[in-house]
Amino acid sequence: MNVLGIEGTAHTFGVGIINDSEGELKILADVRKVYSPAEGGINPYFAAEFMAENADIAIKEALKISGLDIKEINLLAFSQGPGLGPTLRTAATSARTLSLYHNIPLLGVNHCIAHIEIGIEREHMKNPLIVYASGGNTQILIRRENFYRIFGETMDIGMGNMLDKFGREMGLKHPAGPKVEELAKNGKNFIELPYTVKGANLCLSGLLTSAIRKKDDKMKKDDKILNKTFTLEDLCYSLQETAFSMLVEVSERALAHLNAKELLLTGGVGNNKRLQEMLMLMAKEHNVKFFVPTNYCSDNGVMIALTGLKMFKANIRQKFEETKVKQRFRTDKVEILWD
Ligand code: AMP
Ligand code: MG
Repeated sequence: MNVLGIEGTAHTFGVGIINDSEGELKILADVRKVYSPAEGGINPYFAAEFMAENADIAIKEALKISGLDIKEINLLAFSQGPGLGPTLRTAATSARTLSLYHNIPLLGVNHCIAHIEIGIEREHMKNPLIVYASGGNTQILIRRENFYRIFGETMDIGMGNMLDKFGREMGLKHPAGPKVEELAKNGKNFIELPYTVKGANLCLSGLLTSAIRKKDDKMKKDDKILNKTFTLEDLCYSLQETAFSMLVEVSERALAHLNAKELLLTGGVGNNKRLQEMLMLMAKEHNVKFFVPTNYCSDNGVMIALTGLKMFKANIRQKFEETKVKQRFRTDKVEILWD
């Protein structure tokens, strides 16, 4: 069976093609066209325009790499939500058009579930505690029966959005997460910032405001003070240490409470080596195995194809009317009908 998955929740128009005919998953193509705004953050309308311009190119490119003709695709899957309305609709339109024109079954996939499923599949895991940290989402989950239950989550903004917005205020280009990581490596002085954990949940917007003000306060008084007392590197380092410690704390609480034996980090922020290190050390203390799906943390079409395949094999079918996009599509609202 050949499955083509289309991702389009925010910044990436991704096309993944997979094959599982010999009982083993083969990734045949993984094309990612990433929207990067010249300035500011992601403008949903420009991002959607970018996707409309790249959809046809990306699909053709993926088919060419896979060596398959569109007629050999047995299933189409697309990211149905959660995400930005305009980009979701653009990706859904591409998927629907292909489905109607070539008469291929179509399944709408929950994007967050796809981030989890790719991790579990790639790392051969059973029932991990999941730390899902991306731009808009930050959740601690575990599967119990037929749902991924949310044990804890951000009460305001996602970890990636927090890093991106901070970076933007510091003059770094979007996405700032990876640039903050680079700068943080040279940070030496720890600057105290608000640490807000509430039970199993965390809050990041106060931390963001405070980190931005730290720079402004110092700069207002004397431009040079910023360089004298602390550098941007120090601020990036302190922001990462504070925010990631909060995430590790809630993850550790969940791990102990749920007695999980495996820990999975997924989502775009999962690329961050410092976050990986912190979670790995925590997991080691609890004698728990730690995994990251290297190369598949960021948004991609392969994870959408894989989740579509799992749904299809579990006999899930959707009528055309059921493939409308869902901007707000909670992870814990999806029934998981596969092992
Ligand atoms: P996703 O939508 O899952 O691809 O995640 C995108 C988010 O991941 C953006 O907010 C990025 O800034 C963030 N991100 C990507 N790489 C890194 C990194 N190395 N460190 C921190 N954040 C990252
Ligand atoms: Mg994502």
